[in-house]
Amino acid sequence: MAGFQDIVGHGQIIAHMQNAISAKRISHAYILDGQKGSGKSTLAEAFSMTLQCERGQVEPCMVCHSCKQALSKNHPDIIYVQHEKPNTVSVDDIRRQVNNDIGIKPYGSPYKIYVIEEAEKMNVQAQNALLKTIEEPPSYGVILLLTENSESFLPTILSRCITLRLKDVPDKDIKSYLMERCQIPDYQADMAVVFAQGSVGKAIQLAENEHFNEMKDSAIQLIKRLNDIDLHEMVSAVKQLEEYKLSARDYLDLFFVWYRDVLLYKATTDANDLIFKDQVYEIKKQAAKLSYGGIEAILLGIEKAKLRLLANVNFELAIELLLLTIKEPSEN
Ligand SMILES: [Zn+2]
Repeated sequence: MAGFQDIVGHGQIIAHMQNAISAKRISHAYILDGQKGSGKSTLAEAFSMTLQCERGQVEPCMVCHSCKQALSKNHPDIIYVQHEKPNTVSVDDIRRQVNNDIGIKPYGSPYKIYVIEEAEKMNVQAQNALLKTIEEPPSYGVILLLTENSESFLPTILSRCITLRLKDVPDKDIKSYLMERCQIPDYQADMAVVFAQGSVGKAIQLAENEHFNEMKDSAIQLIKRLNDIDLHEMVSAVKQLEEYKLSARDYLDLFFVWYRDVLLYKATTDANDLIFKDQVYEIKKQAAKLSYGGIEAILLGIEKAKLRLLANVNFELAIELLLLTIKEPSEN
């Protein structure tokens, strides 16, 4: 948990929230719309904590009773709405935790704040129930809807909320955050940033995953030996990688970045912009051997394998098909 000043990126949203706080013009309902790991929860926490802080500034003081309660996620007037079924926020959840509760005045804070995470999981009945509260909220009521997809909300909900869209955080900001705040070394930070694709949460998760480097090294070893080993050996090598607690998708992302490096090197013969800088010798070799068309086919094959995995095709089969694609052009 953090104040606004500790958040990476999202300057416009923070400015909007802080202006609203200092002008004492808080809307009763906000939508925070952004991809997984983009910082919705962190923004909601900082906003809630600041609104309730006893010092009433545009940053939470972090030391008053209210801030301490918020920091320990134990604040009676900051309510995180829970849902019983994993894939649905039901009308019961909304009635019990929001509609029937919001009439009770806050314990001692200026506001009563409801945070609904994964709000796109509200079904139509739940949204209609929530609408009643959003239409006639008590003066102290604030509802924060966190979602990856605000298009799933009814127009009547959308029209009564202020929608704040999170943008991807620029790579250079994520990188300096990882290096300065998380003490991640330069090289590893580069790698995590590429994989995170604008999501600070994912970057931190990857940079701190103790298995990430092991998996990366194994993937490199496999890529290097591709032309010497048969399919059977490849599949069992890939299976071995499953023991690392990262998803198959992360593994394919490693492949993708490798071959993007090969393509980049072939086009520029410049090693400075490579992600796998420490593998320049091998990348150079592959760039010389593969044609542009061959590299493109491999990159496409990797994307295809990702789609196959999303469609629940058997992991082994998807990797097998991919490895066939990778082997093929290099044998021409
Ligand atoms: Zn405080």
